[in-house]
Amino acid sequence: MILSPGATIGILGAGQLGRMLAMAALKVGLRTHIFAPEDAAPAYDAAAARTIAGFEDEAALARFAEDVDVVTFEWENVPTSTVEFLAERAPVRPGARALALTQDRLTEKTFLRDLGHKVAPFVSVEDAGALVRAVAELGRPAILKTRRFGYDGKGQSLIREGSNVAAVHRTLGSAPMILEGFVAFEREVSVIAARSLEGEIVAFDLCENEHERHILARTRAPARVSAETATEAKRIAASVIEALDYVGVLAVEMFVTRDHHGHEALIVNEIAPRVHNSGHWTIEACAVSQFEQHVRAIAGWPLGDPVRHSDAVMENIIGKEVERWSGYAGRGGGLHIYGKRVARPGRKMGHITSLSPRPSV
Ligand code: AMP
Repeated sequence: MILSPGATIGILGAGQLGRMLAMAALKVGLRTHIFAPEDAAPAYDAAAARTIAGFEDEAALARFAEDVDVVTFEWENVPTSTVEFLAERAPVRPGARALALTQDRLTEKTFLRDLGHKVAPFVSVEDAGALVRAVAELGRPAILKTRRFGYDGKGQSLIREGSNVAAVHRTLGSAPMILEGFVAFEREVSVIAARSLEGEIVAFDLCENEHERHILARTRAPARVSAETATEAKRIAASVIEALDYVGVLAVEMFVTRDHHGHEALIVNEIAPRVHNSGHWTIEACAVSQFEQHVRAIAGWPLGDPVRHSDAVMENIIGKEVERWSGYAGRGGGLHIYGKRVARPGRKMGHITSLSPRPSV
């Protein structure tokens, strides 16, 4: 089904990604209806309608499905049962399969490996005994991660030389986990790709991500890698998005390593089945942003041209940094403040993107 201007997109989740999706939808004449459990959240101000209800509230979900023409999500921990319930009543793009697969690091890594992509060595860990065997297999350092609900470094712990394996296991609780070999990477990069309802695939230029205290601090576009690596990264993202029969925008995060011959290689870390923080630079540096691209894809429209007209650096504004908003405003870049009421430590409160001319080649 193809949406016409005036139609309504239902968005599950009410964070800053939903807010920027709603603004992009509005730009091309589409309305949005946000469904989320929180009674105050960034996306509501930007949307025409809201439903504040739990993701398990079937009566509320059924009413929401009646009001919208297509459903999407801006948060990857929406229960798959919610998406399946809605999918019987309205088109959901992307669908439950991509969501379920990326909610579990074990199924995600297995999918990527089976698709022929390089991933860090990994072993499923059911209990403390299995962890001891997994550490013996993969060696140290290694990273223990919960299979589900991890983000911004939460739900993961490094096992170093000398770490007490049982103690590290206890810190993450009793959830199923995965142990990954440590990748000595040179850079972290990501590709924001999109696939239309008709199967057309486009990708924005490869960008480079710097984390501080496990939270994305800065994204640079383009990434400082060889042209071959940048092309290869887009090829990997295209293969992932195609294999998932995906409609919408998806992010693929990768590590760049260098072998002893000095050659770069890409190791895929994870997939986000949604618009992504590392794609915010596209709002200022491209004619069609990742948000508009997602809206176009799920509306059944042709995709926009992902060409980047400028180099860009995007910096996140985290926690109390937002109190310096007038200083950010004074810098003259593309300033975004998400309207969150409380600036908790580590919370993403806004971002700013600075452009510079693309060097001529
Ligand atoms: P993730 O939640 O998988 O995105 O991991 C968060 C961050 O931890 C990544 O952005 C990396 O900086 C680091 N990290 C995750 N997995 C590995 C790995 N296998 N080796 C080295 N660093 C990692």
